[in-house]
Amino acid sequence: MLHGLSRLLPDIRRGGLDEASVYRRPAHYRARKGLVPAKGMLECPVCGRRARRFLPFGVSGRRNAQCPDCGSLERHRFLWLFLAERTRFFRRTLRVLHTAPEPCFEAAFRARHRRGYVTVDRYSPFADVQADLTALPFPAGRFDVVLSSHVLEHVADDRMAMAELARVLKPSGWAVLMFPFDPRRPTQEDPANDTPAKRLAAYGHPYHYRIYGNDAPDRLAAAGLPATVVASRRFLSGHRLRRFRVNTNHLLLARRAGTEA
Ligand SMILES: [Zn+2]
Repeated sequence: MLHGLSRLLPDIRRGGLDEASVYRRPAHYRARKGLVPAKGMLECPVCGRRARRFLPFGVSGRRNAQCPDCGSLERHRFLWLFLAERTRFFRRTLRVLHTAPEPCFEAAFRARHRRGYVTVDRYSPFADVQADLTALPFPAGRFDVVLSSHVLEHVADDRMAMAELARVLKPSGWAVLMFPFDPRRPTQEDPANDTPAKRLAAYGHPYHYRIYGNDAPDRLAAAGLPATVVASRRFLSGHRLRRFRVNTNHLLLARRAGTEA
């Protein structure tokens, strides 16, 4: 997850900044500080912060999106609540592979899973392992759990990446995957969108290769990760959506055969 991407968009559009230099900037892994919110109304389940307002975030400046303390966004709070309430993630010490680790999660996940917790990222100098998702340097069946949020849309050959995630999971392992997802239509992707400027126009982000659609579970199943879609608006009541500031969002719970998360 990058912070401050919007400020770089003019340079990216002109082709004056390549993807690696954007993602290697340490400053982009830290949340901005700003507003001093009042007590009340909103609550971040990740860090426990209560606030009247959260920070805006994103190219369009979504209001009340980002926790001012831990930097969590709507999708992070949804994922956290899902892991806490629907899986054993916080009740067992597991072998976890976390791709492109979000700073708001890392300390808590590492404290829970200790040496079983491994982070991987293509560029970030803060990850335990620098590697591409299409060629993971781990043996087959190494992990109980894979967490991959907003990474697959950055990978040109996402089917290869999905197959790699399946390979490094043990046969009874499970994965939670998130990505830009529109369940009302098929996946939008086009090899003709071959520059950051074209991808920004097509997908709203210079480094995204697609917006996933209702065929995403089939794509995951074909890679060995049969998955079901969990919608935030079905998982959380209206009251909890408002309290935790979770928007319309989806995650995919994928299981290898014979698994119980
Ligand atoms: Zn927080």
